[in-house]
Amino acid sequence: IRKISEEHDKVFVTGCEENIDTSQPRANAAFVVLARNKELEGVIQSVKSIERHFNRWYHYPYVFLNDGDFNQTFKDVIRNYTSGPVEFGRVGPEMWGYPEWIDPKIAKEGIAKQGDAAVMYGGLESYHSMCRFYSGFFYKHPLLAKYEWYWRLEPEIKYFCDITYDPFLKMIEHNKTYGFTIAVKELRETVPNIFRYASAYKRVNNITSQGLWEMFVDPIEKPAPAEDTSQKPPLPEEILRSDPKSLPEIDPDAMEGESYNMCHFWSNFEIARLSWFRSKEYEDFFEMMDRSGGFWMERWGDAPIHSLAAGALLAPRDIHYFRDFGYRHTTIQHCPANAPVRQSPREPYLEKTTLDEKLRIEEDEYWENWDTPKENGVGCRCR
Ligand code: GDP
Ligand code: MN
Repeated sequence: IRKISEEHDKVFVTGCEENIDTSQPRANAAFVVLARNKELEGVIQSVKSIERHFNRWYHYPYVFLNDGDFNQTFKDVIRNYTSGPVEFGRVGPEMWGYPEWIDPKIAKEGIAKQGDAAVMYGGLESYHSMCRFYSGFFYKHPLLAKYEWYWRLEPEIKYFCDITYDPFLKMIEHNKTYGFTIAVKELRETVPNIFRYASAYKRVNNITSQGLWEMFVDPIEKPAPAEDTSQKPPLPEEILRSDPKSLPEIDPDAMEGESYNMCHFWSNFEIARLSWFRSKEYEDFFEMMDRSGGFWMERWGDAPIHSLAAGALLAPRDIHYFRDFGYRHTTIQHCPANAPVRQSPREPYLEKTTLDEKLRIEEDEYWENWDTPKENGVGCRCR
């Protein structure tokens, strides 16, 4: 991260824009939310938060997607909390679940095994589908076809600083492709072979790193195995070539000269340029990863998939670290921490929005309970 943040990437705006400029035309962008009806409460929380801290000024549209149908309550309630246009869409079976070339019986056995081994979400078929959807399909959904940019939103997240500029326009202005707020280490047991396939992709396509790949690579921890070709397990590309339908068991200790350090951009927040996902290079990457069966036989998350694709295809200058965004998802958060602003009198919030009184009270309580963070001056009205 240090590599990205200091050398190649600066914060777009320091502190608050006192007069929020909404006179520029909006970017061609939308919030994208994948959710189920039962997650309505969590989605409301997220929508309230992004509306309060950003979208009440900008009114960007939302696209809600679901592998099932959203019910009328979900739609009505969401429309009540959003200040931009809203569309609801269904994710069809061609983007969800098993592709035709996978034997569901084998995949289900693989998933059950991961459940038994207590791999996080490993036993949940739907979670595997979700990760594969976010890895290779969301950007092809018909409701996203008209958009060039997306901002991913999940249930039960929280923004706690005001975002007083348009991050899409800033990404465009600075020629960025992919933005993140948090980078963490993946649970190794969810991705034992992901890196072998990702590096196979690089090899097969003669891709040389533009400097980002190194963010995901550890110096090799053990000496390469002795040159004994008869004993060597086949390379991933050889397996795929010989039988693209097979779901190979691969020796997880076999490394082709590099190893994955498990680092990845946490994809529950993302602001990204959709044309990158839609590029032939990304599509080839997804296709190769998908053909390995790793979305089923292992529990590859879309976060390490996006990150390794970025590592292979992008340069540090293409990435933006939104260190000024206060963002929390479950137990992990990023806090830009701007204590000075917290000491100024609280301004009356939400007067110009359609949101209700209940939200104002909830957020005020949240603010009261917030520990004063260390200051570093980049965030805006964080609480
Ligand atoms: P976590 O953040 O990794 O703990 O996983 P989540 O449960 O938050 O799932 C990630 C995203 O996918 C969230 O936006 C969920 O609402 C969504 N999601 C997960 N599983 C399903 C599913 O089976 N159907 C639908 N429609 N959405 C799902
Ligand atoms: Mn989540």
